[in-house]
Parts: sequence; C-alpha cells; structure tokens
Amino acid sequence: MTATSSKLTLIGSGLTGPLLAISLVERGFDVTLYERRPDMRRVAISAGRSINLALSTRGIHALRQAGVFEQIQKIIIPMRGRMMHAVSGELTFMPYGKDETEVINAVSRGDLNIALMNAAEARGVPINFNQRCTGFDLRSGAVHMRNEESGADATIDSDVAIGTDGAGSAIRMEMLKLPRFNFSQQYLDYGYKELTIPAGAGGKHVFEANALHIWPRGMFMLIALPNIDGTFGCILFLPFDGEVSFAALDSEAKLQAFFARQFPDARALMPDLSENFFANPTGAMVTIKCSPWHVDGKALLLGDAAHAIVPFFGQGMNCAFEDCTYLLELLDRLGPDFPRLFSEFQRLRKADTDAIADLAIENFVEMRDRVADPRFLFRKKVELALENKYPGTFVPKYAMVTFHRTPYSVAAARGAVQDRMLGELCDGVQRLEEIDWQKADALVRRQLTPLAGV
Ligand SMILES: Cc1cc2nc3c(=O)[nH]c(=O)nc-3n(C[C@H](O)[C@H](O)[C@H](O)COP(=O)(O)OP(=O)(O)OC[C@H]3O[C@@H](n4cnc5c(N)ncnc54)[C@H](O)[C@@H]3O)c2cc1C
Repeated sequence: MTATSSKLTLIGSGLTGPLLAISLVERGFDVTLYERRPDMRRVAISAGRSINLALSTRGIHALRQAGVFEQIQKIIIPMRGRMMHAVSGELTFMPYGKDETEVINAVSRGDLNIALMNAAEARGVPINFNQRCTGFDLRSGAVHMRNEESGADATIDSDVAIGTDGAGSAIRMEMLKLPRFNFSQQYLDYGYKELTIPAGAGGKHVFEANALHIWPRGMFMLIALPNIDGTFGCILFLPFDGEVSFAALDSEAKLQAFFARQFPDARALMPDLSENFFANPTGAMVTIKCSPWHVDGKALLLGDAAHAIVPFFGQGMNCAFEDCTYLLELLDRLGPDFPRLFSEFQRLRKADTDAIADLAIENFVEMRDRVADPRFLFRKKVELALENKYPGTFVPKYAMVTFHRTPYSVAAARGAVQDRMLGELCDGVQRLEEIDWQKADALVRRQLTPLAGV
C-alpha cells in the first residue's frame, strides 16, 4: 500500500487530530477529519473558551515538526514559575526551571484548536463537523457516523481509522469487544470547575502575567493561567462530596463565603464568580489505560483515546502531541506497513504513557498541598543546587518531564532515585551550606550514573 492510495479517517478534531492530519497529508495520505461538535470558528460552543493549557517542550517539538509552531507562538504566554497565593495574600514565586529558557507556556485551548484546524484545512484536509462516530467495524474497518444535525447515519470506508476522539473514544468503546482487550479507568474523587478572572484596566492582567498562579489549600486548590486577552483562565479543584466539596457549595452565599475565606485576593477580582460557577459544568478527571491500542492495521488510538491522564503535570496534550512525533518517526522509517507500524508504536510508547499517568497523579498532591510547605521549598533549592553541580546527570524530575524529551518512563525511574537521594541529603538539614556534598557525590555516582540517560 502506498501513501497516496491510503485513505485515513481521523475521528476527533480536538487538539491531536488536526496536528496529526497536517503531517499525514504532507506525506501523501488521503486524510479526512470527522468531529462531533459544530465548527467552533462559527458557533460559540462552550463556556470554556477562555480555558488554557500549559504547552511545554514535547508539545512544542511536535508543533515545530509539523511546521505550525510559528503560528502558535503568537498566541502563547510564557510562565516562568509558580506564584503561590497564601490566604493572607502573601505571594511566593518558585521558578520552574534553572533559567529563563525553562518556561511553560499558557495557550487557550480554543485558540490552539482553531489554529491547528486552520493549518490542517490550509494543507487540504477536509474537516466534517457535527459528525459523531457511533461505531467501527472491527472486521472491515468501516466507520459508522451520525450527523448530529440531521440524525442521518452513514458508513465510511477507509483503510485506517485513527481515534483521536479523546478520553471517551468511540473507537476504543468498539475495541472493548475484542478478546483480551485490557482496559482500566480510574476516576479521582475530585472534580474541576472552569472560572475566569477578567482583564483589569486597559486590558491588563491583574496578577503577574508570566506565572502560573496557585492557591494551594491542602485538600483542594485554585489555579490560574494567563490568556493573551488579559484574562486568567482559572480552575478550581475540589472533592465532589464531603464537608468541603462541590456538593457542599450549593448556594451563592456558601460559594461567596468559601471564596472569601480561602481565596480572598482572587474573589475580589471575580465579579462573575457566582454566575460562572453555577453555569459551568463540574468536570471529572480520569486515568485511562488500555491495550492494545490498535486493531491489526485497521485502527489506532492516539492521545487521550489511548491514555487519558489527570491534568496535574500539564502533560496530557504534550504527551498526545508526542505520540504524533513517535508515530511519524516510525512511519518515515517503516513506511505504511500499518500492522507493523502500529504494534511497534505501542511497543515503544506504552511504558512511557503509563509512567506519565502515574506521575500526574503523584503531582496532584505536590500542587495542592506540598508547594505551601517550607520543607518542600527547601528541597527544591537543594534540587537546583544538585542540578548546577551535576548538570545533565541530576536533572529535576519536573524538568525531565517538562523541558526535556527524556522518555517519561526514564524520567520516572531517575526521578524516584533522585527523590530518595534528596530525602537522604535534606534529612535534618536546614540550610544549603549544611549539605554533605561528599555524600551527594557518592550517591550520584552509585545510583544515578548507571541509569538510562536524560
Ligand atoms: C482541566 C484540564 C486541564 C488540562 N491542562 C492541561 C495542560 O495544562 N497541559 C496539557 O498538556 N494537557 C492538559 N490537559 C489535557 C488535555 O486537555 C488533553 O490531554 C488533550 O486535550 C488530549 O487531546 P486529544 O486530541 O487526545 O483529545 P481532545 O482534545 O479531547 O479531542 C477529542 C476530540 O474528539 C471529539 N470527539 C469525541 N468523541 C467523538 C466521536 N464519537 N465522534 C467524533 N468526534 C468525537 C471531541 O469533540 C474533541 O474535539 C488538561 C485537561 C483537563 C481536563
């Protein structure tokens, strides 16, 4: 089968679908995208338009490879670190990386989606909106679609169907019928709610623009990321049920009192808090693991459809974009031998997507709780000192995941060793000058040097 004769059907024109489509059409494939929602460039489709995501090295690499990063660069805001907001209003800034090149970038989900769809269409990829995939024929590879406006059903023949249809993937649902298909989904007891802080006078940001703001409160937290229009997209993470929970905030008075108590500086800048809170849905967060990701050479799952993760490492989209990098590198090496390509893709990638899923859960506790702990801040200082002393060998876990393209599984393994080392070096120590550097030398030599490199 040659590239030009292969008809590829991509289900889902969210973040990954159009990015992958761009690179596939440039390699000569006949690519069509189907999306269940209306075209967001013509219809206002959700309250979450101001919600933004953190784009980092892996995602940027994939965007560059597709030749679209220059466009995207115009709509991102670099965030140099976390700005912690105490209840008292006191601010503490913690840089993400060792210098100003190590930043993460806020980008509006809607604007990014639009930019990617525009780029895909400009390269000749048709996008069919209001088309919901309702099933997939495991034997023939045909895809069943329903027109969401007319209700009409249709069947699409294609050589390969790629499910870029997110955490609730219809293609994956069909694959559940396969013998020995492995599947797990794990929901958090926490939900999230998207809120907005409007721009201040003259369209300016009301807080530092080049930071990700966090209000860590132990068992829950609020975060805010800047948008280019001067607003902040906020996300409140709270348990679904219990004393302090979404269920408990069932009236405007309770909501306002909760924000006044916990996030007074943010509340003062959120005139539409009650309206936003009660109008916007409460989202659930799930980790999905499954295998295989493919059916012979006929179907493949990619991005959240294959491996949805919780958002606390800011990696779901970055990981999905990196899927494209891996898949395309293999495609260039192996050619359109889809059965081999897909199974090789999964062999290379599965351990890494499992690793980032687990790291993302781990990071939840760090973000909502530990960032407010002075011991944690001290460990971060020691971590930075170790990085300066052993560059390229001791690289903080956050940096390996966010600023490098180190396979996630390697970052997790090295990160676990480094966490133990930090524990040993910081035990009973209050100041950087008290660190036992001879011990650090020995630990690095014995425990880190033998591991797979960053
Ligand atoms: C609160 C929150 C914050 C996040 N923050 C970050 C972050 O900071 N950084 C980061 O990297 N990631 C973040 N993520 C994760 C990120 O949003 C996802 O990993 C990313 O969107 C996955 O891309 P995707 O293309 O696989 O799926 P999606 O972007 O979800 O796209 C799937 C598309 O498929 C369509 N679709 C679904 N079903 C069908 C069907 N049956 N037929 C046709 N079309 C269908 C959907 O309408 C959608 O357009 C966050 C997620 C959440 C929930």
